[in-house]
Amino acid sequence: MTENPERQLLRLAPSQRGALTKKNPLILLPVSAIEQHGPHLPVGTDALIAEILLSELSQRLEPEEPVYSAPPLQIGKSSEHLGYPGVLSLSRESLHALFHASLRQLRGWGFHRIAILNTHGGNTPCLRTLMREESLKGNVTLSWLDVQCPDTGMSPRELQQGLHAGEYETSILLATVPEDCEKSRADCQWIGPEDLHAAIQAEAAPVTRAWHSRDLSPSGTMGDATRASAEKGRCWIDGAAQHLLHQIRRLL
Ligand SMILES: [Zn+2]
Repeated sequence: MTENPERQLLRLAPSQRGALTKKNPLILLPVSAIEQHGPHLPVGTDALIAEILLSELSQRLEPEEPVYSAPPLQIGKSSEHLGYPGVLSLSRESLHALFHASLRQLRGWGFHRIAILNTHGGNTPCLRTLMREESLKGNVTLSWLDVQCPDTGMSPRELQQGLHAGEYETSILLATVPEDCEKSRADCQWIGPEDLHAAIQAEAAPVTRAWHSRDLSPSGTMGDATRASAEKGRCWIDGAAQHLLHQIRRLL
């Protein structure tokens, strides 16, 4: 799981940096979160998933395709997980300031095409709003990449209610960084009936309610992590990377 260093802005040598903007590259800005992921996964799970996807992308891109990743914003908006050990969360105002500063400075470097690669659902409402504000400033094309979970082989209930640290995320980490997982501690916690699930999905529901993860699942898991496996993870990583590659090629 190592992204090609030549595709990372933070690894470029000074002599490589100057030539970069002439290619009008697409810059991927990873945004994730540091938050509890049940009793079995590390708090950096979302940040690791962003790293895994970037690594997979860097193996699939052709050398001449001008796609680079910006230094990741690993701490996001995780207020729904505050109170669990290890959570690092920004306030809405801090995330706004960090996001705006990152985009402003990437534009200042001379990049005009930036795509957000967000791996934490709790960031989505904030970032989407901020993108609209930033796009008004002109001189940059901002895109949102869909980090979709391919559903092959997933149980219908997981698909519907698997929100967090369940079968999907656990499988991804088992396939890539098994040493960071405590599989024997993986649990299964369903968050409740279908209408509750709909009501906490801010993007999808007609009526929504605010929530804290301890009200839905004391362990922090929302889904069935006991069904996770490295084989499923490998399959879902391939699917997610292909899906991202397809979107990126449409932006180039
Ligand atoms: Zn996560």
